[in-house]
Amino acid sequence: MKALQWQGKRDIRYDTAPDPVIEHPRDAILKVSSCAICGSDLHLFDGFMPGMKSGDVMGHEFMGEVMEVGKENKALRPGDRVVIPFTIFCGECFQCRRGHYSLCERSNRNAEAAAKLFGHTCAGLFGYTHLTGGYPGGQAEYVRVPFADTTHIKVPEGLSDEKALFLGDILPTGWQAAAQCDILPTDTVAVWGAGPVGQMAIRSAVIMGARQVIAIDRVPERLAMAQEGGAIPINFDEESVLDRLGELTSGHGPEKCIDAVGMESHVTRSFDAIYDRVKQAMMLETDRPHVLREMIYVCRPGGILSIPGVYGGLIDKIPFGASMNKGLTWRMGQTDVNRWADDLAQRIVEGQIDPSFVITHNVGLRQGPEMYKTFRDKEDGCIKVVLKPGQG
Ligand code: NAD
Ligand code: ZN
Ligand code: ZN
Repeated sequence: MKALQWQGKRDIRYDTAPDPVIEHPRDAILKVSSCAICGSDLHLFDGFMPGMKSGDVMGHEFMGEVMEVGKENKALRPGDRVVIPFTIFCGECFQCRRGHYSLCERSNRNAEAAAKLFGHTCAGLFGYTHLTGGYPGGQAEYVRVPFADTTHIKVPEGLSDEKALFLGDILPTGWQAAAQCDILPTDTVAVWGAGPVGQMAIRSAVIMGARQVIAIDRVPERLAMAQEGGAIPINFDEESVLDRLGELTSGHGPEKCIDAVGMESHVTRSFDAIYDRVKQAMMLETDRPHVLREMIYVCRPGGILSIPGVYGGLIDKIPFGASMNKGLTWRMGQTDVNRWADDLAQRIVEGQIDPSFVITHNVGLRQGPEMYKTFRDKEDGCIKVVLKPGQG
């Protein structure tokens, strides 16, 4: 089959990969109808996430048709149309029973390596590092889904691929980011990053009834899309984020802050961002936590920092004293996709949400390698790329 494969830093190729086969009785084999490139893929593309191997099949946002199921898989049948959550989960372990699917204790087949680094393992993820199991991903014609009898979302009748696809990642990710904020009608919610995750978080915060939602980025078309979704835009290249947030909140600061940027924060004019750039380049720091520092500084005391943005390793110069003394709550994590998916699918069916608004590029899988660059560099107005294996 054809698939997008990681061949090294900034080197993704459309090439032939082994056809997947059933390896375990709970598995399913899926024929991919649509897949997408996520901001998390960019951390692999840019070489910031350790544990990638040459030839790894990329992709953790995908959907399609079930072709074959293992003997113990009673939940799926050939012909079923499903979206696959990016977090692989067993449904039975301590964490799964509590709805913490992204922390499944059994789905990471390299659990020992993850535990060595993090203290404990986290769930297995598709198309991600070998620290999360090294499972071949869904930017491919076919994919093997482990624990497929639990690891799926059935697509409601009549929903197009474009409307359903993001149920597997960015929609529940934005939703969980907003839900973690426990939004009150008096709250200002500030969202750093108006990429696809930020866009979903903004719309979720609006639905959850925030008094005002503010979007921080520097890419004009992303800020315009955020504004259409009900947010007040701040362009960090043109104005001071701290001053503007102060003005918009009568000097109090936002009660809730969402980091939808993660470890690759762009260099702003602030000193700390330049310092991070240098330290990361010299391998003295793995992540660039500028947004975290800004959130701690500006958040109203007693507020919540919600962090869907991905971090991989060590960060430096975090004003922890400010965070402690201001009584801030930190909530974070990979998304427990299936905890939110049924509710969100229903909201799509009822027309409350249509996540396809974020798609700017819809092309064949073969164009994947150039689309990684276009998305990373935000060229050609690119906000979200959908790839179709069926179109070559
Ligand atoms: P993206 O790269 O398209 O979006 C990031 C946005 O942040 C860009 O628009 C960029 O211009 C903006 N940005 C950069 N530096 C900034 C700064 N200092 N202040 C404000 N904005 C800044 O990616 P995305 O798909 O939207 O993903 C965003 C993050 O969410 C990534 O870290 C990704 O790995 C993560 N993610 C997490 C989960 C999860 O389960 N927690 C799921 C999906 C994605
Ligand atoms: Zn993702
Ligand atoms: Zn589990």
